[in-house]
Amino acid sequence: MDIKTWDGDKVTISIDYDKCNGNGACVEICPASVYELQNNKSVPVHIDECIECCACVENCPQQAIKHSSC
Ligand code: SF4
Ligand code: SF4
Repeated sequence: MDIKTWDGDKVTISIDYDKCNGNGACVEICPASVYELQNNKSVPVHIDECIECCACVENCPQQAIKHSSC
């Protein structure tokens, strides 16, 4: 299991890197531009911009994202 966790001021996001295939759906869908791809994996580099809409969780085809508000 390769699960990375980021703690922001308001939210916690975990991404299972065994599941993430780097397709960039979360990067595209997030209205707050929280994510970017690094080495073909998603990283929530701007986690504190998150508006807790849950689009990333709902649109990840791999169900790789866990979010404390979703
Ligand atoms: S949508 Fe899911 S599989 Fe695609 S880059 Fe984001 S975390 Fe990875
Ligand atoms: S919950 Fe919404 S704003 Fe927050 S990271 Fe996911 S898509 Fe972006």
